Amino acid sequence: MNSTENLSYDVFVNDPPPQDNGLLPNGEPKGGSPVASTLIYGSADAVLTDPGFTTDQARALGDWVAGKGRNVTDIFITHGHGDHWFAAGLLAQRFGSRVVATAGTIAQMHAAVAQRPFLWDKVYPGIPSSPVTAVTVAGNRFTLEGHDLMIVEVGHADTDDNSVLHIPDLGLVVAGDVIYNGAHLYLGEGVVVGGFGPWREAIDKVAALTPRHIVAGHQNKQLDDDAERTIAETRQYLDDADELLRAETTAVDFFNAKIERYPNHLARTVLWAGASAVYGVREHPGEDVVPILFAGWL
Ligand SMILES: [Zn+2]
Repeated sequence: MNSTENLSYDVFVNDPPPQDNGLLPNGEPKGGSPVASTLIYGSADAVLTDPGFTTDQARALGDWVAGKGRNVTDIFITHGHGDHWFAAGLLAQRFGSRVVATAGTIAQMHAAVAQRPFLWDKVYPGIPSSPVTAVTVAGNRFTLEGHDLMIVEVGHADTDDNSVLHIPDLGLVVAGDVIYNGAHLYLGEGVVVGGFGPWREAIDKVAALTPRHIVAGHQNKQLDDDAERTIAETRQYLDDADELLRAETTAVDFFNAKIERYPNHLARTVLWAGASAVYGVREHPGEDVVPILFAGWL
C-alpha cells in the first residue's frame, strides 16, 4: 500500500494586509510579507498550519479551507510571531479545531500578545482578539488518519523557539520561518543571539529530515516548494547578509545592497525592519534591544 494514498497537502498564501505607516528608504510604501498556510488532508480529516493574523485573512483562508470539505481536527502553529497565528482563534472556532504548538512556541505566543499594543496594533487595525489557546501534544507527535505529524523543535531561527512540522509520508516539512522562499528574511532577532549561527543550525535540522518539499512560511507563491533549492537559498541569504553587514556602514546602505542582490524578493519592509534592528543595536550598544527591534516596523 502506498502510504501517501489518501494523504495530500495544499498551500494558501494570504497577501499581506494593507498598512499606512510611511515609506521605506527607497520611497516605496511599507507592506508586510505574504503568509503561507498549509492544509494537510486525508479523505475526511485535515490539519491546518499558521492561519495568518487579520480577520480578513481568516475569512479568505477559512473559505478556501471550507472548500476542501474536510474536518479540520488541528491547527498547528510553528512559532510565536503574531502574523502566523493571531487569527487562529477565528479559524479554530469556525472549524471546531484544536490549536497545537510546542511549549516554547506557546510561551512566545503569550509574549506576542503582550507586544500587540506596542507593535502589531500600531501597524494593522484588523487583528482579532487573540487569546492563547494552544496546547502541546505528547512526544511532539500527532496523527492525521493514521499518518504521523512530527513536530521538530529547531531552536532560534528568525525568533526563539521555532518549530517545523514534518510529515514523513509526504516527504514534506512545513517550515514556518526557518526556511524562506522568494521573500526577504527577517534578520532583526539575530541581535538577541549574537548573529545567524543558531538559524544556520536550525536549517541544518530541517535538512537532516531530508524532505522533498518545503512550505516556507513566507513565500512568493509563483515559486515551487523544492526542498533542496529553498534550503540552499535560505543559507545563501544569510551568508550574503553576513558579508553585507561587514561591508556596509549604515542600515540604508545594507538595505540598498540587499535589494540589488535580491531584486525580485518580496517583503522589502521585512528587510528594512531587520536592517534597522541590526544597525540600531550596533549604533546603540548597551541599550534595551526591544524598542530598537520594534522601531524598524513602525
Ligand atoms: Zn514570519
